[in-house]
Amino acid sequence: MSELAMNSKTVKFGGSSLADAGQFRKVKAIIDSDPARRYVVPSAPGKRFSADTKITDMLYTCQRLAAEGSDFSETLEKIRSRYLEIAKDLGLSFDPSDELDRIAFRLKEGATKDFAASRGEYLNGLLLSSYLGFPFVDAADVVRFSENGTLLMPETMMAMREVLADKPCAVIPGFYGAGPNGEIITFSRGGSDITGSLVARAVRAAMYENWTDVSGVLVADPRIVQNAAVINTITYEELRELSYMGATVLHEDAIFPVRAAGIPINIRNTNAPEDPGTLIVPDDSADSDTQTGYTITGIAGKKGFCAINIQKAMMNAELGFCRRVLSVLEEEGISIEHMPSGIDTMSIILAEDAIKGKEKTVLSKIKKAVSPDSCDIEHGISLLAVVGRGMRRTRGTAARIFAALAHARINVKMIDQGSSELNIIIGMLEGDFEEAVRRIYDMFVGSVEHDA
Ligand code: ASP
Repeated sequence: MSELAMNSKTVKFGGSSLADAGQFRKVKAIIDSDPARRYVVPSAPGKRFSADTKITDMLYTCQRLAAEGSDFSETLEKIRSRYLEIAKDLGLSFDPSDELDRIAFRLKEGATKDFAASRGEYLNGLLLSSYLGFPFVDAADVVRFSENGTLLMPETMMAMREVLADKPCAVIPGFYGAGPNGEIITFSRGGSDITGSLVARAVRAAMYENWTDVSGVLVADPRIVQNAAVINTITYEELRELSYMGATVLHEDAIFPVRAAGIPINIRNTNAPEDPGTLIVPDDSADSDTQTGYTITGIAGKKGFCAINIQKAMMNAELGFCRRVLSVLEEEGISIEHMPSGIDTMSIILAEDAIKGKEKTVLSKIKKAVSPDSCDIEHGISLLAVVGRGMRRTRGTAARIFAALAHARINVKMIDQGSSELNIIIGMLEGDFEEAVRRIYDMFVGSVEHDA
């Protein structure tokens, strides 16, 4: 690895950060302002306004039309003019026309969806590399997949290190790589985050900066809590809990590569580069600077759950009761979320989607397996997670959460606290969900002056 690469930062820019020439200028200013920002991973140009279409979506459209044997030239023309407009505005001679002609040719020959979608990042990488004056590295040469589309980590690390060894800086497009025969394979949507994480790990970056259009991860969903506070520091573990419960921050698979190498992630806002954003760190136990300032770190949740409620007198004395119930779900290929129980009752909380179409079979199989006194399904449940490493060392957190809910007259259907004491999960009716988020937010953050 070149010497400059050590202590470098890998910077990934999302689609909205590169949606037009004005955004490209901001990106360049961000890179120029810190010489450590050397390895740049761009997404394809995203939306410029809410009704706009992402280049990636236009490319998927072209592929679909081509596969149907329909004409896709109109959409391809729109793609061409998006890139040309950005290049012209930046005073660059970059012209995507030849590349797009080749892409059109391949689409007519039956090119895959992955190939089509990847071209958005590919072209944007070429454009950004010419604008920054950084060498271009095709992700197809360094991100390796197996035949069935699984990322090959050691091979990818080796290829990246080899190619980047003599490059103190580079632009590497996000989202795609190649399979064993050179065929283009993409990650799932939003996958440029993963490429950024892989590059950061390969160059042993001091930091992985992920630039987007918000000033970090918010304590609660801004559609529910207006002006929700930004989380200044969060651990990988907490982020995983929040993401699982619906907070959309980074692609889920983007955390693992840097986490394994202990590289922190900094979520930053291209439109407000002076904001410090959110720092995602391995663990804060030794470092008091990384405390959040609030007892809780974040609140997230999801609707669309149901509960299978089972009741049977003397259930507690019956050996293997739970196992038999769970075997039924396993046989049906249904995974569960939570399993709160009483002495003679047990409930299983699971996603509505997981059991859809199988309700009758599941109920009758459970009845056969354990002969319960009653067994039914309750629909319309939401789960809310209050996540915070601060809960381990603070007493009374649960009391405050439930006091907030009680004041709002919200009925709690289920409570689950993980053994790590990192989160408390609360089940309630879907209609109560938003109010519950607001009340808990207010208890811990909105009224932070009382939260000392
Ligand atoms: N451009 C791709 C998408 O829209 C990948 C990404 O932006 O990360 O999903």
